[in-house]
Amino acid sequence: MKKISDKTHFKTVIVGGGIVGAGIFRDLVLNGVETLLVEAGDFSSQTSERSSKMLHGGIRYLENMDFPLVFEALHEKNLWLKLTPHLAKEVPFYLPVYSDAKRPLWMIRVGLYLYDFLSSFKNSPFSMKTKNQTLNDITGLNPEGLTGSGVYFDGIMDDAKITLEVIYDALAEDHAHAMNHTKVVNVRKINNKSTLTLKDEFTGIETNIIADQVVYALGPFTDTFLKQYDFYHWQDVLLPSKGSHIWISAKDLPIAFPIVMTPQDEFGDRVIFVIPHGAKVLVGTTEVPNKDDLFHVLPTEEEINYLIKNLNSYFPKLDIKKEKIIGSFAGIRPLVREGSSTGDRGKTSREHKIFQPASDTYVIAGGKYTTFRVMGREVTQKICHRFRKSYNRDKTESPLRRPSVIEPFEWRLPSEADLIHICETEMPKTFDDLVKRRLSISTRAIWNENTQVDFDEFFTKHHSIINKYFHVTSEDVKNFL
Ligand SMILES: Cc1cc2nc3c(=O)[nH]c(=O)nc-3n(C[C@H](O)[C@H](O)[C@H](O)COP(=O)(O)OP(=O)(O)OC[C@H]3O[C@@H](n4cnc5c(N)ncnc54)[C@H](O)[C@@H]3O)c2cc1C
Repeated sequence: MKKISDKTHFKTVIVGGGIVGAGIFRDLVLNGVETLLVEAGDFSSQTSERSSKMLHGGIRYLENMDFPLVFEALHEKNLWLKLTPHLAKEVPFYLPVYSDAKRPLWMIRVGLYLYDFLSSFKNSPFSMKTKNQTLNDITGLNPEGLTGSGVYFDGIMDDAKITLEVIYDALAEDHAHAMNHTKVVNVRKINNKSTLTLKDEFTGIETNIIADQVVYALGPFTDTFLKQYDFYHWQDVLLPSKGSHIWISAKDLPIAFPIVMTPQDEFGDRVIFVIPHGAKVLVGTTEVPNKDDLFHVLPTEEEINYLIKNLNSYFPKLDIKKEKIIGSFAGIRPLVREGSSTGDRGKTSREHKIFQPASDTYVIAGGKYTTFRVMGREVTQKICHRFRKSYNRDKTESPLRRPSVIEPFEWRLPSEADLIHICETEMPKTFDDLVKRRLSISTRAIWNENTQVDFDEFFTKHHSIINKYFHVTSEDVKNFL
């Protein structure tokens, strides 16, 4: 990958290498603007690898009458299904309906028709299933009170990999630069120009750079970061909402298709997705206020119990115990408050907002993973205008040019040559970067579900190769949970 050498002045600097920063990065460089992307940890190591991993219009936002958002998200979903078929695929989602459900089957039919209509009928068409058809398709589903189901189509994806490939694609341009494990630790205005201090996470070395234009794409970190600097006069804009997920082995939860659970409980309209991803099944999510340190968010015992309880009420015969969990994670949705609202996180809009706290600075927050491409357009357009460049919004509709070595849906054990190629071209700097985001293996138990090869033996064998690129100790391997 490209070296930044001693460059200290950039036309644009984007702070935050989640999907939103990555999307703006690609848009800017494809439109000819020299840009540096700076990320405190690894690219996509925060919210953008902790989503429910769906490219979707958001079936539940229909209830909030958020039609423009659903329309936009459905079009983006269908675009990315085409652009990244190796990282995202369309699958049928089953929405089982029980006799005590708030929404009977006829209402589901109307909702699903509307969903397909809003996609301009680009979704594969929805269908309605009888009770028996549903039970045939979904192994182990609770038959008691089941009246049937609605089936609609959305995408499932490897969220971390899409962010990475968006960045790799941008880096194909000479005027694109990106640094991971580099934190912005100070911002000053010197002669009316933004000067950012970057700190290398490994060496601790600090470097000052000047940016003609700054974009903050900090997701849930937006308020905490910007409030540090008086000249931004920043007032909190976020309503952070924590969501937790668990992974269960597909052997213990053998379902062929995703299902949408809509528990009738004190949490109102909460929706829980159960989504098979090869050898494992993703179950989530919750929506609660966050109490953790933003950089280290974990699911609580209570959230895990809640997910397990609902799983067992939909699949009583499978008797899933907590011991069957092979991985878990939590993230913070960077929702933007509506007015002075501090209320219902499930109902808060997933729209994004753009702020301009200084003449050379934009802040973007909110939105959804699925809509990242359209979120940053307005910012990109303004920056192109400022630098007297014409803006072509269609450039980001082109396919990504640098696919990752390991593809999530066709997972295979990496060879020695693969590891070398990944280390040379995909910018991992730690063992976690390599295993979690380049090999798409988030826990040891998940590795075991994918291969018979022993985790420790594999990495001990390849230790010296990996060590040529970055420092890995046997402790790193041993401590990988
Ligand atoms: C539980 C959950 C489920 C979700 N499910 C879906 C879904 O299925 N589909 C969907 O479309 N959307 C979903 N979303 C929403 C989606 O995940 C987020 O909207 C999106 O990932 C936010 O991306 P981001 O780039 O804004 O934030 P982030 O990915 O958090 O990126 C911000 C980055 O800024 C970096 N940073 C912070 N401080 C500094 C600093 N000082 N210097 C440098 N870098 C810094 C952080 O390290 C971080 O990587 C979900 C969200 C959650 C939490």
